[in-house]
Amino acid sequence: MLNFEFYNPTKIVFGRDTIAKLSQLVPAKARVLILYGGASAQKTGTLAEVKAALGEREVHEFAGIEPNPSYETLMQAVEQVRAQKIDFLLAVGGGSVIDGTKFVAAAAHFEGEAWDIAVKRGANITSALPFGSVLTLPATGSEMNNGGVVTRKSIQAKLAFHSPLVFPQFSILDPTKTFTLPPRQIANGVVDAFVHTVEQYLTYPVQGQVQDRFAEGLLLSLIETGPKVLAEPNDYDARANLMWVATLALNGLIGAGVPQDWATHMLGHELTAQYDIDHARTLAIVLPSLLTVRRHSKHAKLLQYAERVWQITEGSEDARIDLAIERTRAFFESMGIKTRLSDYELGQPAVETVLVQLEQHGMTRLGEHQDHTLAVSRKILEAAL
Ligand code: NAP
Ligand code: FE
Repeated sequence: MLNFEFYNPTKIVFGRDTIAKLSQLVPAKARVLILYGGASAQKTGTLAEVKAALGEREVHEFAGIEPNPSYETLMQAVEQVRAQKIDFLLAVGGGSVIDGTKFVAAAAHFEGEAWDIAVKRGANITSALPFGSVLTLPATGSEMNNGGVVTRKSIQAKLAFHSPLVFPQFSILDPTKTFTLPPRQIANGVVDAFVHTVEQYLTYPVQGQVQDRFAEGLLLSLIETGPKVLAEPNDYDARANLMWVATLALNGLIGAGVPQDWATHMLGHELTAQYDIDHARTLAIVLPSLLTVRRHSKHAKLLQYAERVWQITEGSEDARIDLAIERTRAFFESMGIKTRLSDYELGQPAVETVLVQLEQHGMTRLGEHQDHTLAVSRKILEAAL
């Protein structure tokens, strides 16, 4: 196992009727800004419930954080924070709203142009406003991690940032708040959590037996729960399991002490920035091809994945790996998610565009061995056509 430090200060409050707990979680004298997305928080009644729980506190609102939150929109929230002397942020929504809130929290105190936070990947964050979240979409793990992704529309750049200063203080996870999600977003959530787990698991073996078994458990849970959440939108336990799996997939625990390969996300971010494809959908395009192209450096773990996750034990090693990758693709497709660039009417020109962007963003040495060069990305994208 590799050396590691594990730190996660986010308090999770999980279950039915937990939004009422905001009255204890948010400081009594706080000047609160609630940040949310488009219409869903209002339509579902979650926003009203949140406001009621905040009682007599001074509460302001910032609406309109879009999927793949934009720097342009978030800077308007920063203006509001400064003008209204806000001292506590509360995100109500999915990964986009929570990531956006993290950026606002850090940008509010930032001197200089806040886009620099994204450019430096968060290394230059020196302080941030405290914040909490009410999660409405299980997918990203943002509710219990210190990362965020922000898009600058004017230059079609989507960049991730991290800082120990942007962990949420708390996150409320009420599975009933996910009942209103459209099938498309549920499917996205299942695939995003699946890929997060794979990126911390399918690398090379380091005898991290606990991490491996934990990751395999999360993958098996997603395979089991995914179809159920789609088929029965009001099944509380299915939603509860999906919600907890998605949080555990990216709260730092399974990635501690093991190698990681975030190349699928890095290629996916470029596809979203250029072609506005949902985050999870870009991952479903990239991952099966990445596993195929990188099968030699991931050989041992791919065999373990085939056996323990897909129960494939027969055939040659190559045949077992092929079948495991095929099952992965079929799982995404069974959730209603396409896995080819051509499914989005994208061809060779898109490959060239993404490669230019990857180079521009310094994504030239990816993977668990930092040997995933632009040439490797080219092979993966071409295999995904
Ligand atoms: P999202 O972009 O936050 O939300 C997608 C859509 O779902 C929105 O249109 C939203 O509508 C709707 N929605 C949310 N909750 C709903 C509910 N309860 N009922 C009905 N509709 C609801 O989706 P996401 O997949 O959670 O987040 C994606 C973003 O997270 C991407 O930018 C991705 O890059 C990033 N990400 C972050 C991390 C991380 O570790 N921080 C990891 C992976 C991905 P409204 O706008 O109307 O609310
Ligand atoms: Fe993701």
